[in-house]
Amino acid sequence: MNAAVIGAGLGGLAAAIRLAKMGVEVDLFEQNNFAGGKAGEIVKDGFRFDTGPSLLTMPFVLDDLIEFAGEKRADHFQFEPLEIICKYFYSDKSEIIAYSDADKFCREIENKTIDSAASIRKFLKYSENIYELTKDIFLFSSLAELDTYTNAKAVKTFLKLGSIDPLRNMHSSLKRFFKDPKTLQLFDRYATYNGSNPYKAPATLNVIPHVEYNLGGFLPKGGINQITKSLQKIADNLGVFMHFGTKVLGIEVDNNRVKGVKFRGLRADHVKKFDIVISNSDVLNTYKYLLNDELSAESKKYKNLEPSSSGLVYYWGVKGNYPELAVHNILFSKNYRSEFDQLFDQKKIPLDPTTYIYVSSKLNKNDAPEGFENWFVMINTPYHTDQNWEVEKEIAKERVIDKINNMFGINLRKQIVFEEVLTPDKIQTDTSSSYGSIYGISSNSKSAAFLRQSNKSKKYKGLYFVGGSAHPGGGIPLVLLSAKITSELIKKYEIAGD
Ligand SMILES: Cc1cc2nc3c(=O)[nH]c(=O)nc-3n(C[C@H](O)[C@H](O)[C@H](O)COP(=O)(O)OP(=O)(O)OC[C@H]3O[C@@H](n4cnc5c(N)ncnc54)[C@H](O)[C@@H]3O)c2cc1C
Repeated sequence: MNAAVIGAGLGGLAAAIRLAKMGVEVDLFEQNNFAGGKAGEIVKDGFRFDTGPSLLTMPFVLDDLIEFAGEKRADHFQFEPLEIICKYFYSDKSEIIAYSDADKFCREIENKTIDSAASIRKFLKYSENIYELTKDIFLFSSLAELDTYTNAKAVKTFLKLGSIDPLRNMHSSLKRFFKDPKTLQLFDRYATYNGSNPYKAPATLNVIPHVEYNLGGFLPKGGINQITKSLQKIADNLGVFMHFGTKVLGIEVDNNRVKGVKFRGLRADHVKKFDIVISNSDVLNTYKYLLNDELSAESKKYKNLEPSSSGLVYYWGVKGNYPELAVHNILFSKNYRSEFDQLFDQKKIPLDPTTYIYVSSKLNKNDAPEGFENWFVMINTPYHTDQNWEVEKEIAKERVIDKINNMFGINLRKQIVFEEVLTPDKIQTDTSSSYGSIYGISSNSKSAAFLRQSNKSKKYKGLYFVGGSAHPGGGIPLVLLSAKITSELIKKYEIAGD
């Protein structure tokens, strides 16, 4: 049996590894000349930057993949839990340090806000409870399989539906635990981990802090791109045939059964036959351009869903060392609600954007020359429609620099010696993500989790989906899980011939 995987994002690499290990002959097609998609890197002028993800959570999902391949993670890269997960800076210039040690974090909140250590502990317990009740249904299984809902764990979850808090939004639920606007803003921010709005997303997403505080936040030595490099190496070791710089132009279908893929070769286009096709390309992109199908129910449903937010990322080489910053930092806006209204309702870049600064050179000294730091500075933006990002990125840059200067009393403009910028339209072109969305569809509605593309196509036999726009969603652990769910479905329906 042979399979084509379209796209060498983390989801595509993970699917290729799992299938190859299961004895399937795998060809992996990637339009870029490098693997990783959003999880790429820039190495230039003495600086190294991760281009997308900057924090690893749920590392056991990665370990599970590497062990499945018969290898050891320690042979590829090391990582340690971060002592400080993130440093939060507020508009009144106060700071809160989110320590990974729960007791220390509780004390920090008690010392710096009107909320108590007990309220944090109670909230983290509630968050853990949501995780325990939902993980088997929403993270580790296909939502399209009947047995996902009929096993004992699922029945327990449905009997305790209230505990997973699906009816309130995240913010209203947080107000049951916290009174201080600073604590609320800190936990509201977790909605942005999948590109959503805390004033609309279901409170079930309050599960995310459990993943970070109770299970831990990590950064591999050498940066997140070490994950990409390792998965590429493991796929290679398993004999996956990788075609870089090779864009798939279409999925060949006969009578609703996939037959192969058409791809752009060096001199001509080629068609190769495959028994199964796994698309790591964005779901909408797959229907519209690879299947030329905008009319089927599956395609129409996806088209009507709201994309997640996108982002502007400035990769700056900065002269000097800044001890006030940790590896991960957030400079909050003054009015969070208004920021999300601007992002999702007015579809504008916020006037006062919450600004994220990730400085991997604080841990990985080789990521910047001595006396310099590598700043990955990101703000959330609306998804891409018709904005002129060449203009928008310059306007936003001025706002971001003023905000940083004002917070730390520095003159950043003079210290920037290197710059590259990632814009939403570039995310769309470089990774084929519709609307330049970072996490596929947003989770701004109660039904979003059920509306994501399932990993096995209902219409096309032999077609499967992995990656951030399919179930269970975006972010490193989830796209790796999508590959696990998909490979299990392939084993059941294609290999075992169920
Ligand atoms: C700025 C930014 C910050 C982020 N921060 C975090 C974070 O801190 N933590 C976290 O967990 N996640 C984060 N994410 C999200 C995370 O990066 C993604 O969810 C994940 O990497 C997506 O993986 P994927 O498998 O969906 O593939 P993608 O990375 O989207 O890659 C898809 C691949 O398919 C290829 N492709 C598409 N169509 C074709 C075709 N027709 N032919 C050939 N190749 C094709 C593309 O070129 C691309 O390489 C961030 C993302 C961004 C952009």
